[in-house]
Amino acid sequence: MVRILQPEERREAVNRMHELSNQDILLCLQCGKCTAGCPFSNDMDLAPHQIVRMAQLGLIDELKASEAIWYCATCFTCVSRCPVAIDIAAVAEVIRLYLQMDDEARFDPESIPKSLTENAPQQALVSLYRKFGN
Ligand code: SF4
Ligand code: SF4
Repeated sequence: MVRILQPEERREAVNRMHELSNQDILLCLQCGKCTAGCPFSNDMDLAPHQIVRMAQLGLIDELKASEAIWYCATCFTCVSRCPVAIDIAAVAEVIRLYLQMDDEARFDPESIPKSLTENAPQQALVSLYRKFGN
């Protein structure tokens, strides 16, 4: 069941999201163009426009529990289509940052195969650590 936050709690969550992501999520019109263009929306448990809506409602705990924030590939299709230029990848990154601050790592670096660390482009490995590590 979705929680209903007190106005002050909600305002604080929205302001913090604005500060960390530099996105004014309150501008979202819920038009759905982000979801229509997102290459991963079919696999996400929350569609991109729902991520923004939940962020507007301050439902950070629910977003932290979603898989969608991990499916986002930071491809920027959504922001390129959004009429108010909301960067959902930045919103998802802030939620992942909250999880990192909670010390909830998604993977053990020791589990990365040696063949991958030796052969994968460094940028890919840095991105992997940045997205999934803590
Ligand atoms: S495209 Fe932009 S305005 Fe439309 S639902 Fe997505 S984030 Fe909101
Ligand atoms: S940046 Fe993320 S949410 Fe936006 S279209 Fe790409 S995968 Fe979907």
